[in-house]
Amino acid sequence: IFSNVQTAPPIEVFALTRAYNADQNPKKVNLGVGAYRTDEGKPWVLPVVRKLEAQLAADETLNHEYLPVLGLDAFSKAAVHMLLGTDCPAVIDNRALGVQSLSGTGALFVGAKFLQKILGYDTYYYSAPTWGNHKLIFDTAGFKQGRAYRYWDPATKNIDFEGMCEDLRNAPENSVIILHACAHNPTGCDPTDAQWKQIAEIMRERKLFPFFDSAYQGFASGDLDKDARTVRYFAKEGFELFCSQSFSKNFGLYNERTGNLTVVMKDAELAAAVLSQLTLVVRATYSNPPAHGARVVAATLTNKDLFAEWQDHIRVMSSRIIQMREALRDRLVKLGTPGTWDHITRQIGMFSFTGLTPQQCEYLGNEHHIYLLRSGRANMAGLNTNNIDYVASAIHDAVTK
Ligand code: PMP
Repeated sequence: IFSNVQTAPPIEVFALTRAYNADQNPKKVNLGVGAYRTDEGKPWVLPVVRKLEAQLAADETLNHEYLPVLGLDAFSKAAVHMLLGTDCPAVIDNRALGVQSLSGTGALFVGAKFLQKILGYDTYYYSAPTWGNHKLIFDTAGFKQGRAYRYWDPATKNIDFEGMCEDLRNAPENSVIILHACAHNPTGCDPTDAQWKQIAEIMRERKLFPFFDSAYQGFASGDLDKDARTVRYFAKEGFELFCSQSFSKNFGLYNERTGNLTVVMKDAELAAAVLSQLTLVVRATYSNPPAHGARVVAATLTNKDLFAEWQDHIRVMSSRIIQMREALRDRLVKLGTPGTWDHITRQIGMFSFTGLTPQQCEYLGNEHHIYLLRSGRANMAGLNTNNIDYVASAIHDAVTK
């Protein structure tokens, strides 16, 4: 039965973590997986999360009964409000729905499956390059056509905006366009507000469906509203859209699989029908979501003091990353490493698209025990005051050898 099964290619980012874990060299550095690290190089359980977890553990009114298929109502409402703001017309008119999901990945999958199965959409577009899982999710959800739109221009180390617009203009009607809400992964380059306006105009004219992916709200700039402004702009402009939300990075809840699918519709009267179909998609996929992360997030987002505490935490994380970007750029400039390095500080979010070649990235792994994706994407949170000099001189060596 299984004799014809071909071995699938490994998932690069998990393979890198395995290689890093197996490496015995004390100088090793993991710039692969997109997870926050403290300046000591350790994962960080946010203090507000720790505090709530202690409270939840002591609360004997809680149990492990199933959540409803669409999850914890208080959570999905709070997630929608966090994304769109409470003054968004779609929120005020009850045209914005939330469905708790298995983190950002689960929201993307449930949304994609709904679009394919219920609306019959069959073509999606992703930025070239994009997060490594988008294609797998949409293909697995049954989309027939996955096409790239131009995004990254290696020559300018910036967005190929003309190319992007041209590709969107040529997309067939009802194509689903995956857009990164902020802190584009892997390039760290977002369109300007003026460029988003043009993108919106093309999408409206060409009848393209925006599927935003919001995995870094608050984490990119330290400001929740700023990081959500593009999704809010599209919603205010009257677009119907989906947005997947991940609480992996901004709450550090990676393995709790805490996410939400926000649906913005034109007509509140159609909400019940849409929710009923989403219910069946979830029911067939995993029946209902886990409670723990959703309880933590809902409690934080709905309490003024906890919310303020959490905002401090996201500012700590985003500013440490910004400091590391500056530290790396400054060291490479000081070392006289050939090339320009300003893009490292121009880019935002967790990653820098360094411009290093696949060979240079492999060399860094093999010779210097520094692990990053072959695309040159490096997690800036993997840098700290102890390893920054080592990493900078290793990059210098890889570039000049
Ligand atoms: N989208 C993007 C762009 C991401 O970077 C990530 C996390 N790496 C996700 C979605 C989803 O992650 P998760 O399923 O852990 O929420």
